[in-house]
Amino acid sequence: MYADVLLPLPVDRAFTYRVPETLRETLQPGHRVRVPFRGRALTGTIAGLLRAPPPFPVRDIQGTVDPEPLLDAKLLELGRWIANTYLCSWGEALDAMLPPGVRRPATGRAPLAVRLAVDPPSPLKREAQQRLVDVLRQASEPVPVRTLLASAHCSAAPLKTLIRRGIAETVAARPDVDLMEAPEAAGAQDVTLTSDQARALETIAAALGGAPPRGVLLHGITGSGKTEVYLRAIRRAVDTGRQAIVLVPEIALTPQTVARFRVRFPRIAVLHSFLSDGDRARQWRAARAGEVDVVIGARSAVFAPARRLGLIILDEEHEPAYKQESQPRYHARDVALRRAELEGAAAVLGSATPSLESLHAARTGRLRLARLPRRIGERPLPPVQIVDMAAERRDIKRYPLISRTLENAVKEAVARGEQAILFLNRRGYATVIRCRRCAYILRCARCDLALTFHKADHLVECHACGSRKPLPDLCPECAVGTLWHFGVGTEKIEEEVRRRLPEAAAVRMDSDRMKTRRDYREALGGLWTGATDVIVGTQMIAKGLDVPNVTVIGVVNADTAFYLPDFRAAERTYQLLTQVAGRAGRGPKGGRVIVQTLNPTHFAIACAAAYDLDGFADRELANRKELGYPPYTRLVRILIQGTREPAVRAAADKLKALLEPRLPPVLVHTLGPVPAPIYRIKGRYRMQFLLKAADLEPVRAAIREAFARVKGSRTLQVIADVDPVGMI
Ligand code: ADP
Ligand code: ZN
Repeated sequence: MYADVLLPLPVDRAFTYRVPETLRETLQPGHRVRVPFRGRALTGTIAGLLRAPPPFPVRDIQGTVDPEPLLDAKLLELGRWIANTYLCSWGEALDAMLPPGVRRPATGRAPLAVRLAVDPPSPLKREAQQRLVDVLRQASEPVPVRTLLASAHCSAAPLKTLIRRGIAETVAARPDVDLMEAPEAAGAQDVTLTSDQARALETIAAALGGAPPRGVLLHGITGSGKTEVYLRAIRRAVDTGRQAIVLVPEIALTPQTVARFRVRFPRIAVLHSFLSDGDRARQWRAARAGEVDVVIGARSAVFAPARRLGLIILDEEHEPAYKQESQPRYHARDVALRRAELEGAAAVLGSATPSLESLHAARTGRLRLARLPRRIGERPLPPVQIVDMAAERRDIKRYPLISRTLENAVKEAVARGEQAILFLNRRGYATVIRCRRCAYILRCARCDLALTFHKADHLVECHACGSRKPLPDLCPECAVGTLWHFGVGTEKIEEEVRRRLPEAAAVRMDSDRMKTRRDYREALGGLWTGATDVIVGTQMIAKGLDVPNVTVIGVVNADTAFYLPDFRAAERTYQLLTQVAGRAGRGPKGGRVIVQTLNPTHFAIACAAAYDLDGFADRELANRKELGYPPYTRLVRILIQGTREPAVRAAADKLKALLEPRLPPVLVHTLGPVPAPIYRIKGRYRMQFLLKAADLEPVRAAIREAFARVKGSRTLQVIADVDPVGMI
C-alpha cells in the first residue's frame, strides 16, 4: 500500500510514500505521518491511500505522529479549498488549521511568561532588546511570551539574549483557562424574545433546517439583542445533537463574552491566543472528542474539529481581524461559509455594521437577511451631532483639538457624575516631528514613515516597525535646527483633557498603556466604579465596552480613515462611527455622540450620524460598481518585497510580464506594479500589483504559473493576497 502525503511546503503536490506493513491497518486519510524528505524528517498529512505502486521508487513512511487522524474528510476538503482559494499548497493549509500545541505536541515544558529580573540602568545597545525591556517595565505582571513578542515587535532571539544575560527571567504562566472565567453574572437566562428576535431566530432556523442558502446575515444595531439570538440558535442546534462554533474578534474574546455562552452551555471549549499551547491543545482535543457542545474562539477557531457541526456564528463579521495576514491569507468569514456548506451546517454572520460584501450578498439572495432594527427596551439610539472643525477653527482663530461643543458636553456629563469617552484612532502624542530650520521631517531609518512622538517616554517611535529611540535635541539633518511637532494622537488629547477639565479623572486606553490584562481590568474597573470620568482611547475601546453611565462619546477626528489609500476608507469610517456611537446611551440616562470632522457633509459621516446603513450602502455600492471594486469584483494584491531595491523592481516587472499574457485581457484589470503605500518597512522595499476580476479562476491559474517562475529567496518575497483587507 502507498500513500499520498501532503507536506507543509510551498509545493503544489503530494508526495508518494510506501506504507510499511506495521501501519497498513492503522493509516487513514487525515493521519499525520513522519516521512523522510531531502535528508530531513517532515510531518505530513495523508491525502489518500493507493493500492498500485507509483512508477518511480519511493521511500517508506517512518511512523505516525498521532494515534488517529486529526482532520476528518470534510476538514481535509476545506483545506484543499483554502489552498485553491488563497493560493497556498494544500499541505500549508492543513498545517495552518491545527493550533500550535496540536501541530507540534507540547514538549512538556510549562508555558512561559517573562518578567524583568533586573532593571537595566542604561539603555541597551540592541533596539529590540530595549523594546522588550520597555514593555516589561510597564507591565504589572509577567507577560506571556507571545504577547510580549507581539507588543515589542520582535522575534524570540533578542528575548533569549535578555534571558541569557540575566536581565529577564521566565516564570510559569498562570493557568490561563481560569482567567477566562468571568467574575460577574452573565445576564438573564429566561428572557422572552422580542418579535424582531423571534423573527430573526426563525430565519436562522430555516437555514439550520437545511434549506439553502445556509448563510444568514444578522444585521442588528448595537444593543438589539444579537447575542440572545445566537444563544437560542445554538440551543436549537445542540438540542438536535449538533455542535456550534462561535467566532469573535480576538479583542472581543473577553471573560464576559465567554461567560454569557458558558452559562447556557457549560460544555464549552475556548480557543484563545492567550492560552498556552498545551491548554489550547487540550481544548481542541475536547472539541474533537465531542466532549463539548460549543467552541468559542477567534479567527482560527473556524477550523475547530467539531464532528457534528450544525452552526457557525461569526460575530462582528465586518472585522478586518477575520483576515489572516500571514500565509495562508484566508478570510474566516468566507471559510465559515464554505465550511458550513461542506458540513451541511448553517452560518450566521452578525454585525451592527455589516461589510458591504455581506450586505450585497444578502441583497442578491446569496445570504438570508435577518434584522434587529431596535434596541432592547426601546432604548433610543443616542443622537449624533456633527461638529464642523473648519468652522470651529474660523470661530476661535486657532486649531482646536476639542471643540467647544464637545468640551461642554464632557464638562456637563462629569458635573452630573456621568462619564465620557473620547475616541481617536492614533496613539502617541504628535504624529509629525519637523525641524524648525530646514523643515526636515524625522523618519524611521528602516521604513518610509514619519516618526511619532511619544511624550511620556520622551521617545520617537515608528508605527510600522515599532523601533523606538530618544527624541533628539536638534535636527539630525542640519544639526542646528530645533524640532517641533504637530499632528494629534491620544496622548495629546489626554493632556488636553487634563488641561481643560482639571476636575475630571482621565485615563488613556491604548496599546501603549494597556500591556496586560491587569491594566485592562484596572482601567475598566475605574469606569465601573466611577473612579474614572473620562477615557481617551483608540479603537481598542470602540467595541465591547458597555458601561451604562457613559453618556457622552466624542469622536475627536472622524476623518483618519479618509487619508488611507484604501477603497474601503468610506466603509471603515461608517463602521467606526457607528460602532463608537453604540458605546453611548447603554443605560437609562441615555447619551449623545459628538463627531468632529473636516468633512461634515461626507455621506459616510452623514449616514452614520443618521444610523442609515442602507443609505450608506446604496451610495457606496454605486461607487464600488462604477470603479469596479468588491463586491462587484474580487481583488488579488501581489506584494513583492525585498532588501535590494533594484531586485524588487526587477521582480515586479518580471512578474507583470509573466502574468499579463496569461490573463484574459478584457476580464482582468491589472494596476501597477507601483510602490506600496508604505514603500519601505524594516528595510524592505515593497512594490504592489493589483489584479481585479469578476471571476478569479483564470487569475489564480496565471498567478500559480507566474509565481513558479519568480523564485523567492531570503532577500526577496513574492506574496499573493486574495481578497485583501489591508492595503498598506
Ligand atoms: P447586541 O449583542 O446586539 O449588542 P445583546 O445581546 O448584548 O445585544 O443585548 C443587549 C442587552 O439586552 C443584554 O443585556 C441582554 O441580556 C438583553 N436582552 C437581550 N434580549 C433580551 C430580551 N428579549 N428581553 C430582555 N432583555 C434582553
Ligand atoms: Zn520603522
